[in-house]
Amino acid sequence: MTISCAIFEAACNVLASFFSSLKVIMATVNPMDRMIAHPMELVKLVCPECFGYNQVMAGPETSPPVDFDSPLKQCPHCQKDSLQDYDLDYRGVKIARCSTCSCKQMNPPYSDDYLQKLYAGYIHEEEMDGSEPELDKAHKRLHLDHYESLLKFQKPGKVLCIGCGNGFELEAGMEKGYEVEGFDVDQNTVETLKSKYQCPLYHGDFLELELTENNYDLVYMDQVLEHLKDPRPYLEKIHRILKPGGLLFIGVPNIHSFSSRFKTMQGKLGLRRKKRGRHYDTWHHVFYYCPQTLRTVLQGYYPFDVLETGNDSFLLPSLPGWKKTLLRFALSLPIHWRTTCYCVAKAR
Ligand SMILES: [Zn+2]
Repeated sequence: MTISCAIFEAACNVLASFFSSLKVIMATVNPMDRMIAHPMELVKLVCPECFGYNQVMAGPETSPPVDFDSPLKQCPHCQKDSLQDYDLDYRGVKIARCSTCSCKQMNPPYSDDYLQKLYAGYIHEEEMDGSEPELDKAHKRLHLDHYESLLKFQKPGKVLCIGCGNGFELEAGMEKGYEVEGFDVDQNTVETLKSKYQCPLYHGDFLELELTENNYDLVYMDQVLEHLKDPRPYLEKIHRILKPGGLLFIGVPNIHSFSSRFKTMQGKLGLRRKKRGRHYDTWHHVFYYCPQTLRTVLQGYYPFDVLETGNDSFLLPSLPGWKKTLLRFALSLPIHWRTTCYCVAKAR
């Protein structure tokens, strides 16, 4: 029995290595493609020497989180009492799954206090001081590609960038002809942005902001939704400030990417031990989405029609020739290779 477990574990590890290698290959198709997670990981992911894919996290991954609310019964999206235990990570953080809308979230969630401390100074200096020009360029190109891909749904209009942190999505929006406004929770970050950009910029509690209703053609929210402890009032407010027919762009980590699914399975089988559930990134992510749950949630429980979801393949417009063909083919397979996904939804 022990021998067969060991063989199974070894086989799983070989498979995991194989798929990790595939991820590296995918990344080398376009080195900038390594910007697949979020800005906090970005600095740590890219090695200028070897272009290695490095899963080192920038957060306090070894400190046990201690500051939680009471466990929730009701799912914030569908508002049904259908949260059930689903998984846990190496620090003992519990993940729940809603049996009604299938959404996954941390339960119990972090306290407001904990999250407030976490997001004060969340954006690294390196992301804003121009000391990493290649990464800055890549980061901006990612957003340029997002805006470029949105052109098939609408002409550039007025956009609000939520979580505009390092400013690249503001810059990209301006270059693509959008009339740009930005919001970030952290005051210091926004003060720095104000010294660089002339557009209207807001900070503080998004829910308290006095924003004109029916005002925006696009709300752009890349790598933000997974951080929101109570996403319902945000999505409702976003709907109110969008013009009828306005678009919501959401980019999130994909918990159903091949890599994440495999790691979840390994964890549940007891084969990851110290690394169990690391892919949930629970030190700062509190919700865990995939294209299907984004579609189910936005269409079923909010007034949005989803126009498109999928692997975050928006980098395609930037790739030349055969690389584009190769990546397009890989992304067309019914496998979620990428660890991020996107959703474009239209306000009803
Ligand atoms: Zn639900």
